[in-house]
Amino acid sequence: MTRVDEVSIPEKVANYVIEGDRVRLRASRCPTCGSVFHPPRTICPTDGAGPLEEILLGNKGTVYTFTVVRQSTPEFKTPYVLVYVDFPEQVRVLMPYDGEEPPSIGSQVDIVMGLGPKQEEGELASVPHARS
Ligand SMILES: [Zn+2]
Repeated sequence: MTRVDEVSIPEKVANYVIEGDRVRLRASRCPTCGSVFHPPRTICPTDGAGPLEEILLGNKGTVYTFTVVRQSTPEFKTPYVLVYVDFPEQVRVLMPYDGEEPPSIGSQVDIVMGLGPKQEEGELASVPHARS
């Protein structure tokens, strides 16, 4: 089994920063209207302002809702849970959820690293997950 800390992610493509056992997602904030985006954007789609301020989201959020995925492509072992996480920075992000049972709506989750789908033969990528 591949351990999370054995997987290397090219720094330029990672939309997150690993801090110990937690993860902070990269985002951008519009200096004009204050809208926050993940993944980061260069121009605000609401008012066209730019460049946007680069920010890091906190490593905790609140479950807005979730779904249990029971059918997927072969590289994803089912069932698995996807959650929409609301961050205090006023942005909502969809991500996988680590847990035996689905989370409760409104519960707080930590953002951590998890194993993602199979990338190439035998290679796994890490992606941020939510965990209760
Ligand atoms: Zn804006």
